[in-house]
Amino acid sequence: MTTTTGPTAAVRRATDAPPLITEADLPPARHFIDGKFVDGSTQQAIDVVDPSTENVIARIPEATVEDIDSAVAAAVSAKEQWALRVPKDRSEVLHAVADRLAEHTDLLVRLESANTGKPLAVSRDDVAMTIDTFRFMAGAVRATTSLAAGDYAEDHLSVILREPLGVVGVITPWNYPLLMAAWKIAPILAAGNTLVIKPSEQTPLTTLKFAELVADLLPPGVVNVVNGYGAVAGARLAEHPDVDMIALTGSVNSGRAVARAAADTLKRVHLELGGKAPVVVFEDADLAATASSLRTGSFWNSGQECGAACRVLVHESVAERFVEQLVGEVRSLVVGEPTSGEDVEVGPMVSKAHFERVTGYLERAKAEGVRVATGGGALDGPGYFVAPTVLVDVPEGAEVAREEIFGPVVTVETFADEEEAVRRANDVPLGLSASVWTENARRSHDIAARLDFGTVWVNSHLVLAGEVPWGGFKGSGYGRDLSIYALDDYSRTKHVMHNHGR
Ligand code: NAD
Repeated sequence: MTTTTGPTAAVRRATDAPPLITEADLPPARHFIDGKFVDGSTQQAIDVVDPSTENVIARIPEATVEDIDSAVAAAVSAKEQWALRVPKDRSEVLHAVADRLAEHTDLLVRLESANTGKPLAVSRDDVAMTIDTFRFMAGAVRATTSLAAGDYAEDHLSVILREPLGVVGVITPWNYPLLMAAWKIAPILAAGNTLVIKPSEQTPLTTLKFAELVADLLPPGVVNVVNGYGAVAGARLAEHPDVDMIALTGSVNSGRAVARAAADTLKRVHLELGGKAPVVVFEDADLAATASSLRTGSFWNSGQECGAACRVLVHESVAERFVEQLVGEVRSLVVGEPTSGEDVEVGPMVSKAHFERVTGYLERAKAEGVRVATGGGALDGPGYFVAPTVLVDVPEGAEVAREEIFGPVVTVETFADEEEAVRRANDVPLGLSASVWTENARRSHDIAARLDFGTVWVNSHLVLAGEVPWGGFKGSGYGRDLSIYALDDYSRTKHVMHNHGR
C-alpha cells in the first residue's frame, strides 16, 4: 500500500456550466408567519453563502424574540382548528404537499445544492425522501393502532384518546436542511399540531421555499418559518411558555442548551443529536463489499452525516488487506462542485467555520502521530473542500476516534477478539448508529444486540426507510424520527374511563 501524507483528490470545477440558481429561484428573504411572508422586527440580516464558491447568494433577516413570539402566537391561533380535522383531511393536505414538492423537485434540488454544496445526487435523494416522508405520514395517520377500548376494571370502560400536543417548536441543522425539516413537519402536522420552525441560519433557503410552495395548501398559522440564530431565536422557541414541545436536530451542545431552556416550562423535548458510528469488521466479512459500501456509508453528504460510518474497528488479522481496499475506494471518489457533473460524490464542507473545524482535527491527529493513508487535509479553494481521508494507526481513545468530525474522514482501529470489539465500539459518548460486518449469522445477531446504538445495520450502513425509526441512545438524544414512533412522539395519550355499572 502506498502511503501519502497530503491530499490526493483535486476539486473538479464547473468552468462552463450555468449557475445552479438564478435570482428568480430564491424564496422571499423574509419570515413566514400566519400564512404570509413578513419582514422581521429589525433590519439585521444574515449572509447565506454557497460553500463551493464562497459567494453570498442571499441575505435573510435575523429574528428577534418578538419575531418568534409573533410566529408562536400564529401557531397558537391555528391549533384548535387544525387539531379538529379528522385524520383523512390532514392526510389529504399532506398528500397535496407531497405532490407540490414533487412538481418542484428540480428547483428544490438546485437550491439545496447551491446552499450546501451537496452533490446533485445527494440533493436528489434528499428531495425524494422529503416527499416520501410526507406520503408515509399521510398514510400512517389514518392507520394508527392503540390499545383497544374495553373494560379493564370491572364496570369501567376505558377509551384511549390520542391527542395533538398543541404547538411544536422545531430547530433544524444545515446538513440536510429540507429533509430534516420534513422529518419534523410531516409527523407533527399529521398528529394534529401546528409548528414554528427555525432552520439553520446557514441553510434557510429550501425551508423558506417549502413555505412558499405550500402556502396555499395549509391554513394560516399551521406552519411558520422564522430565520435566525440558535442562541436568540432557537432559545426563545425552547423556553416559550406557549410552545408545548421542542424538537431539535443538531449538535450535542445545542441539545443540552435546548433541554435546559425547556426545563422551566417542563415542555416535552425531542432531540436528534450527533453520532460517531462504529463499523465493526470481523475477519469473516466480505472485505471488498464492506469497503465498497463505505464509499457511500462514510462519504455520503461529504461525511456531514450523523450516521456516517466514520470509525472502522477491524479484526487485526485482516486489517492491512481491508485498509488497502478502503483506500482504493476512497482515492477514486469524485470531489467537485455540484455543477461539475452528475457523478460528483463529495462536495465542500458547509461553511468556513466547519471547514476549519474538520481540518483542525486532521492537523491535531497528524501531530499526535496518527498515520494518513490517503487525503489528510484541505484541497485548493475556492470553496471549503477537504480531501476524502483515511486515518490509520489510530490509538484507542484518540480524539479523532471519539469525537464527531462530521467530514469526509474515516479512522481505522484494530481489535483482537469479539469482546474487545464490542467494548471499544460502545466506548463513545454517542449512540446513534453502528454496523457489523460478518458472514456469520449468529455472530451478527449477537453483536448487534450488544451494541448500544439506536440503529445497527448488519452488512450494510446508512440505509434508511420511512417505516422504521431513526434516533439515538446516550449523548445522541432521545425521541424518534420517521415511522409511527414519530407520530407517537408528537402526540399524547389520554385515558377516559366510563363507569357503566348499573
Ligand atoms: P447545531 O447544533 O450547531 O445547529 C442546529 C440548529 O440548532 C441550528 O438551527 C442552530 O441555529 C440551532 N441552535 C444552536 N444553538 C442553539 C441554542 N442554544 N438553542 C436553540 N437552538 C440552537 O448543529 P449543526 O452544526 O447545524 O448540525 C450538525 C449537527 O447535527 C451534528 O452534530 C449532527 O450529528 C447533528 N445531526 C443529527 C441528526 C440526527 O438525526 N441525529 C441529523 C442531522 C444532523
